[in-house]
Amino acid sequence: MRSVWTKKTKEKSEEEKEVNSNKGQIHEYLPFFFGKLTGRLIVKAKIDADLCIGCALCVQTCPEVFKMEGDKAVVSVSVVPADVEGTCRQAADECPVTAIIIE
Ligand code: SF4
Repeated sequence: MRSVWTKKTKEKSEEEKEVNSNKGQIHEYLPFFFGKLTGRLIVKAKIDADLCIGCALCVQTCPEVFKMEGDKAVVSVSVVPADVEGTCRQAADECPVTAIIIE
């Protein structure tokens, strides 16, 4: 009875050794790298000022990203916030002269 317990304990400690020997190896860091790779890409918006006719439709659709400056629309943020990405894309789709570029 005692020898069975000792044998199981020995097996367990060898398993632990194997687990511990894997610490610090590359597969430990894979979730970190994959998280970086699969994370949300930065979305930016631009307006081609030559095409813009100043209808202000984009400002009505997505005021968080677009604003009027004189008779032309401009982008007011350097990076499109994740929560308004959909409306920003909608504004680009609805622009009558396709002056909005999303990248
Ligand atoms: S919807 Fe297009 S044309 Fe109208 S203001 Fe915006 S960028 Fe200019």
